[in-house]
Amino acid sequence: MTDSQPVDLAHLTHTLRDDNIVGVTIGWVDNNGVVRSRTVPTAELAAAARRGVGITSVFAVFDSHDGITFAHGGLATPSGDVRLIPVIDTTSSVVPLAGQPGLAWAHGRQVSADGSAWPYDQRAVLERQVRRAADAGFEVRAGFEIECALTRESDGLPAHRGPAYSANAMRDVDEFVVQLLRDLSRNGLGIGQIHAEYGGSQLEIALSPLDPLAAADAQVLARQTIHAAARARGLRSSFAPLPSSSNAGNGWHLHTSLVRDGHNALTGDGEHGLSETGRSYIAGLVRELPGLVAVTAPSSGSLLRRRPGYWAGAFGFWGVENREAAVRLVPATPLLGSEHTNVELKACDASANPYLALAVTIAAGLSGVADAAPLPRPVQEDVGGWDDARREAAGISPLATTHDQQRENLLSSALVADVLGSDLLGAFVACRDADAAWAAGHTEDELLESLRWIY
Ligand code: GLU
Ligand code: MG
Repeated sequence: MTDSQPVDLAHLTHTLRDDNIVGVTIGWVDNNGVVRSRTVPTAELAAAARRGVGITSVFAVFDSHDGITFAHGGLATPSGDVRLIPVIDTTSSVVPLAGQPGLAWAHGRQVSADGSAWPYDQRAVLERQVRRAADAGFEVRAGFEIECALTRESDGLPAHRGPAYSANAMRDVDEFVVQLLRDLSRNGLGIGQIHAEYGGSQLEIALSPLDPLAAADAQVLARQTIHAAARARGLRSSFAPLPSSSNAGNGWHLHTSLVRDGHNALTGDGEHGLSETGRSYIAGLVRELPGLVAVTAPSSGSLLRRRPGYWAGAFGFWGVENREAAVRLVPATPLLGSEHTNVELKACDASANPYLALAVTIAAGLSGVADAAPLPRPVQEDVGGWDDARREAAGISPLATTHDQQRENLLSSALVADVLGSDLLGAFVACRDADAAWAAGHTEDELLESLRWIY
């Protein structure tokens, strides 16, 4: 939503047709982190923008295996339809896809059949938190880092052979990297860098910081762009939190910072270059971690990724540039400048809905700011090497690794309940329960295989 002039849909349609765009894919993300979509012919775009296209209301209770759970009271039958509307705030909201010639992309919002707000629309949840941040005097900057494991489509072998972070590994995927850099840029997506990560055949792409809605949109479009470039080069990209039990996980780390009066509000004269706002923002994140990560790393795969020693945020603590911490402060330095301060949430992955993940993260940080939450001491070590007694003495607990623990944390978080609202929370929990029931009937390898390609 913007205050600017509404987009001239007839003119936009002509422009798209002139660019040989025959269809527009309207994408949205469900409660499992799966991108669902409808594609309309370009001639139907204006009608879709006004009235939406019909989709079943039970998309809110689809689980990670395309099962539908009817355990949530609000959506307990197959009856009901809602409208999926492409978000067209500006003429560049509809993006001709560099890697899929003839098609364009638009991000979708879901509204009730009568056009009123639908409580299960994840995008609206983030819009609400952005407004709350603005009411508190802040703009939020956010950016996701995308890790993925690339394999060859033909034989399933690794697309690169390492070593980690090496130019030699990158050489194995040269053509893909060139195409990807070109397509990301043509699709309007900025990145900081791309590199070979430490996991087998793993790559990381760090998206540039943006406002929260744009950052979530960029994360969704980046997946589409990566999948398309991989396909064009005979590769396949797994975004799953844990592509296989013998490999490192794929983290989709979420970096956030606050801006007030045009300047980074986390930066200050205090310890670690933090302001009081910065201290309490981190404190809020750390305090809310158990409930928070049930939304930012919610799936059965997320629970398996959460292992000590993998820089995946297995324990609930923070540190300064400590990559084993669930919350990592990236401080300003004289070299980087005072605008650089940001906070990385490691416990975040592709199975999170990015709109919900950002909404709960912003809410957690700002809850800390609102009540000037006290900041615990940072920990610079790998607490996985400590014994339980030492961790307990330091007030550090492992984050959940079972469905039951995570469910309890989700349901006992007042913050998550407030951010999601009772309808969406009910549907979200029902999805998690359905996933857990599926996992209980399968081996770990079957589970990882079932999630490997869905994100
Ligand atoms: N691959 C790790 C994860 O699962 C993160 C590695 C890193 O810190 O970049 O989150
Ligand atoms: Mg990484």
